[in-house]
Amino acid sequence: MVMMQTAVLGTLRRDVINAVGIDRARSLFYRTGWSQGQRYAELVRKRFRQDDLTAALAAGPRLHTMEGFVKVSTKRFEFDIKRGHYHGEFHWHDSTEAVEHMRAFGVSDCPTCWMQVGAPAGFTTALLGQPVIFREVECMGQGAERCVVIGRNAAAWGNEVPELELFAPATVKPRNQPWNPATEPPQNREGTTPHAIIGKTAGIERARRLVERVAGYAEPVLFLGEPGTGKEFFARRLHELSSVANGPFVTVNCDAYAGDHADRPMFGEGGAMERAKGGTLFLNDVSSLPKPIQSQLAATLGAETKTSAAVRVVSACSGRLRDFVESGAFRADLYFRLSLLPIVIPPLRDRRDDVPMLIDHFLHRHSKAHGKPLRGISVDARDLLLRYDFPGNVRELSNMIERGVIYSEPGGDLEISHIFTGIEQMPEFVEVLHASGRIVRRSTAGGARTSFGSRTFDEMEEETYRAALLAADGNVSAAARALGLSRAKLDYRLAKLGIARRT
Ligand SMILES: [Zn+2]
Repeated sequence: MVMMQTAVLGTLRRDVINAVGIDRARSLFYRTGWSQGQRYAELVRKRFRQDDLTAALAAGPRLHTMEGFVKVSTKRFEFDIKRGHYHGEFHWHDSTEAVEHMRAFGVSDCPTCWMQVGAPAGFTTALLGQPVIFREVECMGQGAERCVVIGRNAAAWGNEVPELELFAPATVKPRNQPWNPATEPPQNREGTTPHAIIGKTAGIERARRLVERVAGYAEPVLFLGEPGTGKEFFARRLHELSSVANGPFVTVNCDAYAGDHADRPMFGEGGAMERAKGGTLFLNDVSSLPKPIQSQLAATLGAETKTSAAVRVVSACSGRLRDFVESGAFRADLYFRLSLLPIVIPPLRDRRDDVPMLIDHFLHRHSKAHGKPLRGISVDARDLLLRYDFPGNVRELSNMIERGVIYSEPGGDLEISHIFTGIEQMPEFVEVLHASGRIVRRSTAGGARTSFGSRTFDEMEEETYRAALLAADGNVSAAARALGLSRAKLDYRLAKLGIARRT
């Protein structure tokens, strides 16, 4: 959970409204709330491993209160997961969004809790797999005593549901069809490719070329790569470039089928296979597919002739799928079917030269998604990122930048403390006293893959100061100069880290 002072959010909100006008600002905050709701849903989904959607949905209002922007009291709340039905009526007390709106603009003639109605919509939609829209009937920002909020299936709101376009313009389907909401707010407004692969190093260049080369075929593609390398992203790129680009892209997380309690079937009516007709079926983490489903899948794929191959099957595996075949956990015939066109995505530590480009990309993307203008990233923070090993790959880098965007001051720079939480395994440095008298930090392996210790950033920082003090013979001013810090700043840091010094 992110703690953000409500006054800070209020100022940001006011500035955004003044900068882009109330309509665009409303869309922006709606979408921010929506994307936050979707993220919560993801977290909750991981928590409730048993696919206990009921508990997850029921936790919604409580989670919303915990967030601290409103106090939710439930008036009516019913849902039926099988029928995909949802109806909720809530009172929201003390909405900070309404308070901040009134502080900046006075009493409003329309409801003002935009981010707050986006959040439960994103949350409920992601869990239910059906678009659910929340609207304010009354709002504190309009002078009401409390906000009155209703959440219903999009279809129940009638024909005019502009929110749907706002949340996912490309993915809105006719009613009563299962709906896979976009997990991110749409990024392609300016006509840029939504899943353009970023990077120029040899490994990623090769993967990109392969994707382009095989996209036109109907044969199965297998993406191999460590967790977080972006296998689903690549699969979506493949889909965009394919002849079924206008068809659906259906993701199946195969580990959800373990123990046979998937919330949705793979085959038959309404199953993933059927929903992916005319499009792409993406089997994520395919090695965890249980044996009975493997057999069915092998039979289905075997029965499909070239002409009736209505579904393009793309799968992903983070280990060596072959090893699962050898251990008997994965059917050999299915393996050979799925792995006709394998594409390996390299880990981020093997494509370090792409890191600067990715930093800039994520900085732009996250600051846009969160509606937070930023100047850039500090030299120190960039420097440290360039040396970090990224065990979680591109996803970890993206998370770090997003965290930085959220923690940093609007219009400022991302600093080390915004990005690193202190639990990361930090690269080891050697401090070198340069001929000029400056302390130069250099990574031990000169830019190549380094061996990493388990020091925290604080420990590293402390070591750097100690080395500088030693080199300056204990003279704090000289050490500060060598480090490029002001004397006052170094004093402060030394005191904070409890480093004794001679004066
Ligand atoms: Zn309100």
